[in-house]
Amino acid sequence: MTEPRKARVATVSLAGCFGCHMAILDIDERLIELMKLVEFDRSPLTDMKTFTRRCDIGIIEGGCCNEENVHVLRDFRRNCDVLIAIGQCAIMGGLPAMRNAIMHSDAPLRECLEEAYITGRYIRNTTHNIPNDPALPLLLDQVYPCSDVVQIDYQIPGCAPSGDVIFNMLSQLLAGRFHGFGHENIRFD
Ligand code: SF4
Repeated sequence: MTEPRKARVATVSLAGCFGCHMAILDIDERLIELMKLVEFDRSPLTDMKTFTRRCDIGIIEGGCCNEENVHVLRDFRRNCDVLIAIGQCAIMGGLPAMRNAIMHSDAPLRECLEEAYITGRYIRNTTHNIPNDPALPLLLDQVYPCSDVVQIDYQIPGCAPSGDVIFNMLSQLLAGRFHGFGHENIRFD
């Protein structure tokens, strides 16, 4: 009898801090158990930058703050059967979305960049330039949650979610038994 094939999983960090990927590694020794069920394709965990084939699950850390994030997220939607947004940045924009709160200015993005690179109290930028290399991806007007850009199938809340929550969710999903998070999984006190 042939062994059932392993589920293919891809992961990516968009506008995130990689803390959610660290949380995936917090699964610790249960990763060995998980690796019997899954194989990683495109992911910082494999250092593979492109999909080698269609994946069953795509895990997205971070929201969309620039055009490259949007391109990558759409690529994940095209290449993955199920998309999971992991962490508050992917679900709501998180910390990077603090810049969305600058509403009073006519040019909120420019004001934000000027404070970050030129006028901020602790900035020592002798060039007085805002980085504008053509290789840099164009920033979006705001930071967007993943669900504003593509359909997201599941969300794992937390900043970052615990390794336990991630492991339990993935195990149940792979077994076809995931029916949502219990109260104990989404309280942060
Ligand atoms: Fe980092 Fe928290 Fe955002 Fe995850 S949710 S990428 S841990 S800031």
